[in-house]
Parts: sequence; C-alpha cells; structure tokens
Amino acid sequence: MTIIDKAAKALKAAGDNCGRNSDRPRIHDEFRCRRCGACCRIKDGIVRVSDTEIARIADFLGMTEAEFIDRETEVAPDRHGLILKSRPDGACEWLSDDNLCRINPVKPDKCRTFPLEWVNSDSFKVCPGLGQSTDSR
Ligand code: SF4
Ligand code: SF4
Repeated sequence: MTIIDKAAKALKAAGDNCGRNSDRPRIHDEFRCRRCGACCRIKDGIVRVSDTEIARIADFLGMTEAEFIDRETEVAPDRHGLILKSRPDGACEWLSDDNLCRINPVKPDKCRTFPLEWVNSDSFKVCPGLGQSTDSR
C-alpha cells in the first residue's frame, strides 16, 4: 500500500478530509518525524504569522517587531496578513542546512502543530513521517 493509499484510508476512517486531527489516535501513533525538512520546503507553501507570533519571534531574535516585519515577512498572496519569507527555491528562510528550524522554540503555531494537529491529503504527499510505523533514525 502506498503512502497515498494509506492517507486516503486514514482520512476515510477519520471521517473527513481536512482539519484538525487531535482525535485521530491512529495518525498520531503512526507518525515518526524523519527530520527531513520537507514540510519547510513546500513549493508555494506559506506560513502566516499572527501579531502574537511576530512578537514572540522578534523577541527571541532580539529584534523589534517592526524590524522583524520589515526584514523577515512579506504580505500574503491573498493580501490578508503577513507570511514568513521564503528562499527562491521555496524553502523557508529559517530552515538550516541540516533541516532544523532556526527559530524552533518560537516557531509559528502552523509549524508547531504540523502534522499532528491538522492534516489533509496533501500532508501525506509532503510528510514521509505520516503513516510510518518505524523510525528511520
Ligand atoms: S519557521 Fe521553522 S518550522 Fe516553520 S517553515 Fe520555517 S523552518 Fe520550518
Ligand atoms: S515533512 Fe514530516 S517527517 Fe519531514 S520534517 Fe516535516 S514533520 Fe518531520
């Protein structure tokens, strides 16, 4: 069974195809993060940042909120709010060469909760840790 097949099966069992999955113990049980950084390299992916997250990250970096907004964010494609900047290849600017998040202690909630608090069918295409019963590390 392919990862996509597993995704379809898991989502069907979960009852819908998107949204939060905190009530999906099977997905939780089978998840093992491989620290591949793929979730931080999603082409055309965006990470929105709220005012609270901006304040938190700016404080961690020793910057003012205005400095952080000016240097590290841009307006979202839909013009609703701000997103973290990406590199030309689509990777988040905060992803290190060894696939670690350089702002991990204060990273946005979207990053912190992926893939265990929210999931959709694309999550399984992106994340090799979903639907795995063994850890490669
Ligand atoms: S903030 Fe960190 S966890 Fe979120 S996309 Fe960027 S590198 Fe990945
Ligand atoms: S894509 Fe999945 S396995 Fe890879 S770093 Fe992100 S959460 Fe971990």
